[in-house]
Amino acid sequence: MHIASVGVSKSCFLFSLAFCSLLLLFIPALQSPTQQLDPPQPRPQNKSAPARQSNHAKLPGGTIGAGGTNLAAGLSKTSEVQKTPVRTESPSPKRAVEVKISGSRPTDRLELKDIFIAVKTTRKYHRSRLDLLIQTWVSQAKEQTYIFTDGEDKELHKKTATNIINTNCSAAHNRQALCCKMSVEYDKFIESQKKWFCHVDDDDYVILPSLLRLLSSYHHSQDIYLGRPSLDHPIEAAERVKSDGTDSVKFWFATGGAGFCISRGLALKMSPWASLGNFISTAEKIRLPDDCTIGYIIEALLEVTLTHTHLFHSHLENLQKLPVSTVLDQVTLSYGGFQNRRNVVSIVGGFSLAEDPTRFKTVHCLLYPDTQWCPKFKSGHKN
Ligand code: UDP
Ligand code: MN
Repeated sequence: MHIASVGVSKSCFLFSLAFCSLLLLFIPALQSPTQQLDPPQPRPQNKSAPARQSNHAKLPGGTIGAGGTNLAAGLSKTSEVQKTPVRTESPSPKRAVEVKISGSRPTDRLELKDIFIAVKTTRKYHRSRLDLLIQTWVSQAKEQTYIFTDGEDKELHKKTATNIINTNCSAAHNRQALCCKMSVEYDKFIESQKKWFCHVDDDDYVILPSLLRLLSSYHHSQDIYLGRPSLDHPIEAAERVKSDGTDSVKFWFATGGAGFCISRGLALKMSPWASLGNFISTAEKIRLPDDCTIGYIIEALLEVTLTHTHLFHSHLENLQKLPVSTVLDQVTLSYGGFQNRRNVVSIVGGFSLAEDPTRFKTVHCLLYPDTQWCPKFKSGHKN
């Protein structure tokens, strides 16, 4: 009897041991996947966005260009109000995820029509630059693209059903003229009721699915300013808005040539310094160009920090260095132009470099292969 009871407790013990081992094996599988906090993950995918798998958070493109040393991650999220404009190396990824989740509203999916895309141009570039954009990415976003120019062009109206706004600003390439256009862009955005304001130059290609994916990871009511700094340090200017100019102020700004985006919530807060011509007087006070003035209003006056992203690209950086496999995941691309014709993304497709010197047509046909003028390859494409 005693021996039998020892046998039972022995098998009980062995059974418990086996059960515990099984439990231990299953514990990792039961743990929440949200433990993987690095890098920050976007909100759930927008259904209307194409199913391309984003890998932007892991881009080796993080080392490209003038962006430099403190732009280590694909995205550094620091949108909360901070006193000092001098940022730390890279914010805790946990904090970044917390910010995103707090703005997450599953029923409120972002659509392309919610984005206002302003293209800055000038009369003399309508044929040489704008036509290419109209033929390519603008054709996929006619309703939400707004072209800000400085001269009438009947041809342009015939070519596209997109919004063309003659700002009546001067056609000169100086601070006043550029700030005049930005001022009109801002007012038109506020009037539009759209959720996001994005600005690009007329030598930028906007990869719309990537833009939608990026903005979907935030909420338009948050204070969000997204873009790529052209410098690896904040700029310093005399503070002539809040004080008499004896003090200086340091702030980051997103370079306009690569494009940038601002949430509606933040744009509304900019109103005292940006609406109805106030943008021009703010820029005059600090004597800086349009994109710097945007950074000044947001970082220095509103104390909201720029979220640095490597997904926006201007021709200030070496575009050839952008890894080919990541090109279609970027948000904006550009090209070198006359001074540096070879500064283009090294992507191959249906067009030679002579046929498509900017590579924009090649990019476009990879994104939208069914476009009527895209080369048709035998396999996998309709006639
Ligand atoms: N631009 C303008 N007026 C001008 C010259 C240029 O509005 O007299 C616009 C141009 O269309 C582009 C932006 O300013 O959207 C930047 O011009 P560009 O690419 O020639 O110069 P960079 O990129 O070297 O600053
Ligand atoms: Mn340019």
